Amino acid sequence: MSKELLDTISDKSVSNEFYTPIPKGYEKGKSKYVIILGTVMSGLGKGIFSSSLGLLLKQKGLKVAPIKFDGYLNQDAGTLNPFRHGEVFVLDDGTEGDMDLGTYERFLGMNISKNNYMTGGKIFQMVLNKERKGKYLGRDVQFIPHVTGEIKYFLRSLAMKSDSDVVLFEIGGTVGDIENNYCIEAVRQLMYEEGKENVSFVGMTYVLEPNFLKEQKSKAAQMGMRSLMSLGIQPDIVACRAQNEITTKIREKISVYSNVEVENVISVHDVPSIYYVPELLKNAKIDSKIIEMLNLKNKENTEWDKWSQFVNNIKNPKKEVIIGITGKYTTLKDSYASIMKSLEHAGSNNEVKVKIKWIETTDISNTEDAKKYLSDVDGIIVPGGFGSRGTEGMIKCIEYVRTNNIPFLGICYGMQMAVIEYARNMCGLDDANSTEINPDCKIQVIDILPEQKKIEGLGGNMRLGGHDILIKKDTLAYSLYSNKEMIRERFRHRWEVNPKYIPTLEENGMVFSGKAPKYPIMQIMELKDHPYFIGGQYHPEFTSRPLQPNPLFNGLVKAAIEKK
Ligand code: GLN
Repeated sequence: MSKELLDTISDKSVSNEFYTPIPKGYEKGKSKYVIILGTVMSGLGKGIFSSSLGLLLKQKGLKVAPIKFDGYLNQDAGTLNPFRHGEVFVLDDGTEGDMDLGTYERFLGMNISKNNYMTGGKIFQMVLNKERKGKYLGRDVQFIPHVTGEIKYFLRSLAMKSDSDVVLFEIGGTVGDIENNYCIEAVRQLMYEEGKENVSFVGMTYVLEPNFLKEQKSKAAQMGMRSLMSLGIQPDIVACRAQNEITTKIREKISVYSNVEVENVISVHDVPSIYYVPELLKNAKIDSKIIEMLNLKNKENTEWDKWSQFVNNIKNPKKEVIIGITGKYTTLKDSYASIMKSLEHAGSNNEVKVKIKWIETTDISNTEDAKKYLSDVDGIIVPGGFGSRGTEGMIKCIEYVRTNNIPFLGICYGMQMAVIEYARNMCGLDDANSTEINPDCKIQVIDILPEQKKIEGLGGNMRLGGHDILIKKDTLAYSLYSNKEMIRERFRHRWEVNPKYIPTLEENGMVFSGKAPKYPIMQIMELKDHPYFIGGQYHPEFTSRPLQPNPLFNGLVKAAIEKK
């Protein structure tokens, strides 16, 4: 596109057919874009692919900003049921996002924010707000150019704010969905406006290998690429998901049908762990291909050795430990995705394989039951949760591990349960409970925060996102967090340890080793005279990274090894 034409495209130019609001100071070509789209079916692992590609580019010294588009009309994932959608991943800025955001943070070892998460709901809200303010200057507001214009604005703003070399944009869903077609149109326009040398497309697809044929079939993949091309998008790379490595014949077929050189049709076949994907892509030289296509200047590989070591330890563990996880979403393991990842990080760091044993606590009503489930575990996690189902069973499990010296990590709800157990069994407060479980209980050791009560009327009801935690010296928490006095972790809760009972709990031996700097909000609790008994009011699983496992998980795995 000519410079003159691009110059006319601005917020004010609403008299012509172009509506492309450009952020002030935006420089075309300064950041490049890689767009990842899926065809044939959902569930191809676009998030893992994008994150792995991001990791490779980052290791070439490039600054990468990942972003995901979710076609849902929800503004964020806060109201999504984890049964249907997997876990809600909380960012430091309090954004409640899709699980894929966790994959990005973990692979790229960086904190992302609301600017890295676009949903259909968010875009439409922007359009509707602008329409009410008269920002479209009397024009009929349309999918093209207005909705597509806001999407491009969002992407360019991220490019500018993050000052990145590459914006990696994953479009959720599949080509052909109603939910994402305006977004695909927006990236087509983006390519037209930014120029081919600044935008690359990766089309992901699936090569079938039906059992009854025992042979790879490329038709569905070809059709997928064809639908992408019918939307005006020519892929530069075709990434073929498949059960087994795709054959040259299949690559050639796909190449012919999609105008993509055969060496740019790559096999992304199943591997035993998602951590093998970066290596797979590196061997296919996808990083150098993108760098060349976009004319990027790469630097030296930085952390590949550390990453290889991490993956190597996963491939060749020296021992195995069993960690029990209690919880009510035991039928949908995706609700605990980050916890499972955190255990992998800690496992690799300690050169062990962590085997998970799921424990349905609704089946546990006494010590005998707890023993039946827990006698073979080397440690347990009682994770976060909401509502009353299974809570008495969790409390029984906690009593069992506390009295039997089995390592314990309580996460959010799990910490609250540990406080209830201690109040009941060690402080003589028999009726102790949380008002979330029994609003009429006499001893409300877990209750809604006074300041939460105040802000509740104003609409804020969850304490969300990153908060600082002041750590007490010479405690387990202090040593786990490398003797730091101030740390930061992510929260997502309404209830809290009731300050009224803190003195009683402390007199009876509970140590509150981490609290909010300015409020009496207890954020870490631990017990002395136990090999490992610790709980956080926060979610340590959201900050654990392959190369930097979260200290609470690392400590749990270490303690589990020692117990064994
Ligand atoms: N339901 C509890 C609360 O709201 C714990 C929440 C959680 O585990 N994320 O405080």
